[in-house]
Amino acid sequence: MKQLKSVKELIEFRNKQKKKSVGFVPTMGAIHQGHTSLMERSVEENDITIVSIFVNPTQFLEGEDLSKYPRQLEKDLIKCEESGVDAVFTPSIDDIYEKNEPKVAADPVKGYILEGKNRPGHFDGMLTVVLKLLNLVRATRAYFGRKDAQQLILIEDMVKAFALKVQIVPCILVREKDGLAMSSRNIYLSKENREQALLIYKALNYGKMLITENDEKDPKVVKEAMLEILKPLDVEYVECTNRDLTISDSIEIENSIVLVAAKLGNTRLIDNFWI
Ligand code: AMP
Repeated sequence: MKQLKSVKELIEFRNKQKKKSVGFVPTMGAIHQGHTSLMERSVEENDITIVSIFVNPTQFLEGEDLSKYPRQLEKDLIKCEESGVDAVFTPSIDDIYEKNEPKVAADPVKGYILEGKNRPGHFDGMLTVVLKLLNLVRATRAYFGRKDAQQLILIEDMVKAFALKVQIVPCILVREKDGLAMSSRNIYLSKENREQALLIYKALNYGKMLITENDEKDPKVVKEAMLEILKPLDVEYVECTNRDLTISDSIEIENSIVLVAAKLGNTRLIDNFWI
């Protein structure tokens, strides 16, 4: 496996793979099984797999955990290699960003609800770096987790709007054995918070049961029942949306997502299920 430390090295590597299908998995590192499941799928479906590890400063807001975001490159490189990845792109910030350059603006509605409401501008930074990375890597397919549902949908919209020549592959959300959604931020949870975090999974499962077994279609009823379970937590939102992120007054099977964000101590967790 190759480590590509600059844009120049990436372009040289990429130019050698002319006729091959290329899978791409963008990450911010602190690699866990959620990430490696994306890599393994890419390895299965493409001749070459490229992973990027880049903690993107423009998607962090003032006061967020940019400087504290977990960084463990050596361990990450081993996990990528074990997953069968061919190259890991690890650029510096200066290699990716110029001063005073244009950026992508997320849709003023879809980019400013849910995560965007609590983190205004986050998705501009995310879309900007994803556009840059997609253009640099020129992948056949790019893999994104359903864990970050809103991110995935905004990327799909951007790829369509800008006619990018890449296939976006949505991938299943990977959980710990006890149900907690895997996340690089889980390591920050105290023992007590880690236990409490399971309420998110419990609430989501209860919501799912109401919809799929009790045939409940009213998002208000589902949200209220879930909020009752989530009472001990500092909940930021519980929301039901359609798969295009529009808020609807009726849950539709095969077309809905139920999303939760909650803070445990200083750690913000998100989770969801697709109905
Ligand atoms: P991140 O490093 O958090 O930016 O995540 C990089 C990619 O991994 C994104 O497409 C995420 O949606 C995906 N990802 C993160 N956690 C999980 C998970 N638990 N299951 C599936 N995909 C995940």
